[in-house]
Amino acid sequence: MSLSSNLNFKNKNISKKEIVNFLNTENSDILQLISLANDKQETNEITYSKNVFIPLTEVCRNYCGYCTFRKDPNDSKTIILKDKKEVIETLKKSEKYDCKEALFTFGEEADTEKIVKNALKEKGFENMVEYVYDICDTTLNKTQLLPHTNAGVLSYADMKALKEVNVSMGMMLESSSKRLTSTIAHENSPGKDPKLRIKTIADAGKLKIPYTTGILIGIGETKEEIAESLLVIKNLQEKYGHIQEVIIQNFRSKPGIPMEKQTEPSLLDMIRTVSVAKLLFDEVSIQVPPNLNHDTNQMFLLCGADDWGGVSPMTHDYVNPDSPWPEIQELKRLTNEGGFILKERLAIYDNYMNENYLNENLLKKVLYLKNRC
Ligand code: SF4
Repeated sequence: MSLSSNLNFKNKNISKKEIVNFLNTENSDILQLISLANDKQETNEITYSKNVFIPLTEVCRNYCGYCTFRKDPNDSKTIILKDKKEVIETLKKSEKYDCKEALFTFGEEADTEKIVKNALKEKGFENMVEYVYDICDTTLNKTQLLPHTNAGVLSYADMKALKEVNVSMGMMLESSSKRLTSTIAHENSPGKDPKLRIKTIADAGKLKIPYTTGILIGIGETKEEIAESLLVIKNLQEKYGHIQEVIIQNFRSKPGIPMEKQTEPSLLDMIRTVSVAKLLFDEVSIQVPPNLNHDTNQMFLLCGADDWGGVSPMTHDYVNPDSPWPEIQELKRLTNEGGFILKERLAIYDNYMNENYLNENLLKKVLYLKNRC
């Protein structure tokens, strides 16, 4: 197959068949695909958000076959509910590193577990969303950070409430394939029903919440299913315009997980998928998590990836306090070496910094911090 006839992908509708063809490219066609995606790269700036990651609970109603986050609620080491005081202390510490994003990521519907429900009750909260609201509100009022919550599937009403105290929110679609809900990846994960996830992303669009989503590849999906998943996101973006970035995440195996023996996506799989995503989306950032691709992440910049996602300067600090921001320094080196420039961004992209997406309080804070990036 020759790709040479497809020269301009700006505002071009790409069919599922074309996407599948791109995902199946071989030999020198792969180089052509990279070149097409590279041509669509409109900037040489590669962005990242300086964040601090706060897992409010490690309990989750799902049991995904690839999960490395969820913990057993009966294990004494599991974070059942991170105390607010501890959260604020961590956020305060992160200010010293000039972090500007408070990333609250945690298990889905954890409050369906009695142990979490009780912990919430003890603190005077009815459910997880009430607690998250309170934490985000305090984050806004007592720290310089901007909250970004990733809580998995949420109801319209819950997102409406959280919108008031979050500059953006997110949830990976992962895959739009219903078939995967009867495979090792998602068979024990009611929250991975694509219908629920698509509804959550659509509701975020209706509510005008700047949103991060993406796909996870290598969990047993077919090329057709990758194409469908990308098209679902594309359609949601065309309908609501709220998707600020699409993450292309690769499955990584880890000892002890149910999918331990599953083959990881190859570098070429990632190259093809990142390139296709670049061709498919206009004015949406394409993000590849650098920490999942230590040896290969520079390659994705040539395929059109333009964002590294959230990077925490605090992560390594506990290990090596004399070397501040080692990850960011390393990221800068990797970015520069490819001929690109590393640029800090906020948890909300510039296009969404207006009153259509943010209330007055959030907008004021965002505009103030934007000048400090
Ligand atoms: S939704 Fe799945 S991947 Fe996410 S924390 Fe729960 S079990 Fe893990």
